[in-house]
Amino acid sequence: MKRALVFGAGGFIGGHLVDQLVADGYWVRGVDLKLTAEPSTANDFLLLDARSPSSVDRAFSCEMKFDEVYQLAADMGGATYINAGIHDADVMSNSVIINANIAKACVRYGVKKLFFSSSACVYPQVERDLSTCYEDDAYPARPDNEYGWEKLFTERMLMSFQRQYGLAVRIARFHSIVGPRSTWQGGKEKAHSALARKVAMVENGGCIEVIGDGTQTRTFLYVTDCVSGIRALMDSDVDTVINIGSDVLISIAEYVELLRSLSGKDFTVKYIPGPTGVKDRHCQVTLASQLIDWRPTTDLRTATSMTYQWIREQILYEVARPAETWPDLLKRGRT
Ligand code: NAD
Repeated sequence: MKRALVFGAGGFIGGHLVDQLVADGYWVRGVDLKLTAEPSTANDFLLLDARSPSSVDRAFSCEMKFDEVYQLAADMGGATYINAGIHDADVMSNSVIINANIAKACVRYGVKKLFFSSSACVYPQVERDLSTCYEDDAYPARPDNEYGWEKLFTERMLMSFQRQYGLAVRIARFHSIVGPRSTWQGGKEKAHSALARKVAMVENGGCIEVIGDGTQTRTFLYVTDCVSGIRALMDSDVDTVINIGSDVLISIAEYVELLRSLSGKDFTVKYIPGPTGVKDRHCQVTLASQLIDWRPTTDLRTATSMTYQWIREQILYEVARPAETWPDLLKRGRT
């Protein structure tokens, strides 16, 4: 039986990845600062802070070696978190320390393969109508936020571990992953989850506020497709960075319309100023399709519907509890 160690197992993508690894017959240890939104299927789960080298040592200590390590733990959030400029020192230092601790431990414990979750945020925002993201477009480097710079630095750091220590490194750049269990409130939610929450909370005839002017474009990938991409990459010999995302482009205004049709509600939209991240970002998956025979299989409407329904259920669950235990957002009655 293969053994996998998953950092960030209490998070959105890490939680789904653990489910898949267990279903594939792995023995899995999950590690995180917190538990998952739903009970973890991991065989073993350690609540640890991966910024501490001794905690990372504890995570790797096991009677048998881990065959594979998956590194998804990061200090991250949506544009209102990573583009606001007020969390940059934490975002950069927390994640780079976690990544260095884990890479060094892989070498110390003789792990053969390490997966790293990089991001579309490594791509520069360029002055053209649509910002296409082929893997090589990351250079010359000009990420639009510090989170992207940290991811790009860690890509390079891990490639150097590959060259110097022979650690096989697999790196995917994720592009806006959607699905149940994504962070939907608390300040670290991404645009798609924030929009789904706003639509789920607004009353018929009400109004939702949307940051930006609605013309920004994005692609959204369903989480189970993301997990199948991670697994395909880890099972491959591909040691160059590849995009894991959808290539179906949609504007934020169109995404709101999609949510409107899924909700069956009538509401108005007020566009307001605020951090939006880059204007356009169009993921290209040619390399993933050629090298690991992977393409997204879930259409955008289904992906959005599954995400919307799950967030709606979370809100209904919260409001069914005593008001004093509600998240601040519900207490304030804000969408
Ligand atoms: P998430 O926030 O749900 O999961 C990250 C997890 O890391 C959290 O559970 C958090 O508690 C954990 N963590 C943070 N600091 C830690 C520490 N010091 N020790 C142990 N655990 C710690 O995020 P996600 O959406 O599941 O993202 C997973 C990875 O994919 C991250 O590296 C993220 O940067 C990357 N990524 C995600 C997206 C996306 O659209 N969700 C896009 C690009 C890249």
